[in-house]
Amino acid sequence: MEIYGALRDIVGDSFVSNQPEELFLYSRDSGAQPPRKVDYVVMPGSVDDVQKVVLLANKTRTPITPLGGGFTLSALVVPHKGGIVMDMKRMDRIIEVDPINRYVLLEAGVSQAALKSYLDKYHPDLQHSTPEAPPTVTVTGNALIQGHGHISPRYGINSEMINGMEVVLPTGEICRIGSSSLCPAWFTRGPLPDLPGLFIGWYGTTGIVTKLAMKLYPKPRYREVIVFSSDDIDAIPEAIVEITRLDLLEDFFLITQEKPDWMNHVFYVLILSANYEEELELKKRLYRELLTKFKGGNTMTIVEDLHPALEKRFLDVPPLAALSADFRKGGGFEYTGAIFPISSIPQAWRGGMEISHKYSMICSYVHQVLGCHSIMFGFNYSFNRADEEDIEKTRKALDDSNRLTLDLNGMIWKGEVGAQQHTMQKMDPNTAQLIQRVKKLLDPKSIMNPGNWEVAND
Ligand SMILES: Cc1cc2nc3c(=O)[nH]c(=O)nc-3n(C[C@H](O)[C@H](O)[C@H](O)COP(=O)(O)OP(=O)(O)OC[C@H]3O[C@@H](n4cnc5c(N)ncnc54)[C@H](O)[C@@H]3O)c2cc1C
Repeated sequence: MEIYGALRDIVGDSFVSNQPEELFLYSRDSGAQPPRKVDYVVMPGSVDDVQKVVLLANKTRTPITPLGGGFTLSALVVPHKGGIVMDMKRMDRIIEVDPINRYVLLEAGVSQAALKSYLDKYHPDLQHSTPEAPPTVTVTGNALIQGHGHISPRYGINSEMINGMEVVLPTGEICRIGSSSLCPAWFTRGPLPDLPGLFIGWYGTTGIVTKLAMKLYPKPRYREVIVFSSDDIDAIPEAIVEITRLDLLEDFFLITQEKPDWMNHVFYVLILSANYEEELELKKRLYRELLTKFKGGNTMTIVEDLHPALEKRFLDVPPLAALSADFRKGGGFEYTGAIFPISSIPQAWRGGMEISHKYSMICSYVHQVLGCHSIMFGFNYSFNRADEEDIEKTRKALDDSNRLTLDLNGMIWKGEVGAQQHTMQKMDPNTAQLIQRVKKLLDPKSIMNPGNWEVAND
């Protein structure tokens, strides 16, 4: 009650709770991980509030877990050691758009949908990299977990688009990182020691980001989709190399599903964009020529009669690439997001299929090609939320695909705590120790989202 009273003094009655019905919502996410205990939820309204809560947590050694939209599916926002969930959604101001230097400065609670609507309304010639996640997820949460959006194949993953940030350190200091540490403009993160890396990929274990500056990009006037299909799994790496040779794509993903039957092929979905109609026509012609001449995959055919509804889904921003994922009719969806070298795709493809069949599931994949070097390979699983056995099966399938990912020299993206532990076990011990040392330096009392990025049994 003492902590509750202190939190109430900081944020006011309406923005703190220890009521079971509210804590229930924060003790689980929509993925397959089991629920865990939460003691308090607090919604700060300003960086001062965040700082005061962090100082209180330090004094009382209470764990804090920052939460954006809470949609990683891997329970990264469900505390492992109880304590305070800090829900950032009240801090939802879009502070500045600089249209010349092309960046936005926003608070940590701004959702993808809010930023997209704002840009559509006030800066229709600018866009940000939008993930195919639910619209309520935050721009900050996504960038901090090294997410990827609809222009990542062209411009890189979303964490690479960070220009700077304001962070409350676990010990309570407020720091500005990037050009904003020297001047009022948030236009670049370097040339300086690359401090954003101390907060990217750490799952909230090293500090709470309160403001984020993200790059914006020109929004082209025309967009079009071309789809090719093939049944040659071994030809995928070579086809990707060939397709990315032209360097003309905005988005590029691969999909397949065993059901319905018409989807049981490798589909290459290419999103082209342009500012001039002639430019678009040229790009379309070049890709058609390139792929019809491509010899590595002799079964490669262009899908001429793409259904208009499907075309619209692919061209939406973000695209809706995961099609009928709810095979189990129970609303549950999970995936191991593996970052693979392009050369590992055929093995991963076959291995993932074996895992799906082992658990009597329908194999379904969506992969986004990231630049011309790697791929986000989604091992997708749908499950029935009302069926405990089904959920347990999904957890096992996730664990299998996590292990397969590491065996095939991939990296597990936004993995749950078990996946993080597999990663730490495989890692060079000196690197694992460096992670622990950095963490200890920044968070000496171990209050920030504890349990994450710890070695097993630590
Ligand atoms: C159907 C579906 C499709 C998806 N497709 C994509 C996709 O195409 N691309 C993609 O990238 N992702 C995708 N995702 C995964 C995920 O939903 C997104 O990456 C999402 O943007 C994560 O943001 P969030 O606000 O939900 O983060 P959260 O889950 O709230 O947080 C993520 C992590 O960051 C930490 N964190 C959050 N805010 C802060 C802060 N202010 N300071 C410090 N740490 C913080 C949290 O503690 C947590 O560890 C998808 C998810 C679903 C369900």
